[in-house]
Amino acid sequence: VNLMTLDIDWAPDFVIDHVAELLTSRGVKATWFVTHASPAVSRLGQCPELFELGIHPNFLPGSSHGVTPSEVLAHCMELVPEARCVRTHNLVQSSPILSCLLGETPIRIDASLFLPGETGLRPFRCRHGHQTLVRVPFIWEDDVAMLQPEASWGGDPFLGDGLRVVNFHPIHVFLNSCEFEPYALLKQSCPKLQDVSIEQAREFEWSGDGTGTLFDRLTSRLSASRTFTVTEAVSEA
Ligand SMILES: [Zn+2]
Repeated sequence: VNLMTLDIDWAPDFVIDHVAELLTSRGVKATWFVTHASPAVSRLGQCPELFELGIHPNFLPGSSHGVTPSEVLAHCMELVPEARCVRTHNLVQSSPILSCLLGETPIRIDASLFLPGETGLRPFRCRHGHQTLVRVPFIWEDDVAMLQPEASWGGDPFLGDGLRVVNFHPIHVFLNSCEFEPYALLKQSCPKLQDVSIEQAREFEWSGDGTGTLFDRLTSRLSASRTFTVTEAVSEA
């Protein structure tokens, strides 16, 4: 099963709209992990036949979501009251965070485990007291691919047995990033990513092979097959 996920990571609205349009035009389902409220995020919520919204809590110091795990999760659940799945920002995890998640939210699916390139995966059910948390690992991510000395944008991370969950960041799809530097320079020129204008972003677009060309190719290919959101994949498994 091939699953497309996206960590919104405070992307500006024109970037979210750009990626949503690529998915809707091809009828490809995706699970978006939401970091903030915006008109483009609301538009994603108006497309439940294709898009599932999960939360993307930031538990790091200085988080705009709050200080304690409880505060952070309460803030994120206000953003997406219907959310049933989570991927934490920067993949921060701990036993207290998972306990808080199960005790204080309706979230029962966690997609924060990164097992790069692993095959034969399936949703993993972890008993935790009276509750069960289903862990859905992901096997490929755009920004990790960029760190490889010879980043390859011509491959297909969906190839392989079992559950294949890939993760893209909308900003890297828009910039067609093949390395970090253009993104870092964009952030330098406008530290608050949400406020970046389309003109500013275009200055840092890459014209060769990169995250955007790969996303384009994968979504084109997925359009021919049945696709799932994370929650759908768990309930089918
Ligand atoms: Zn993130």
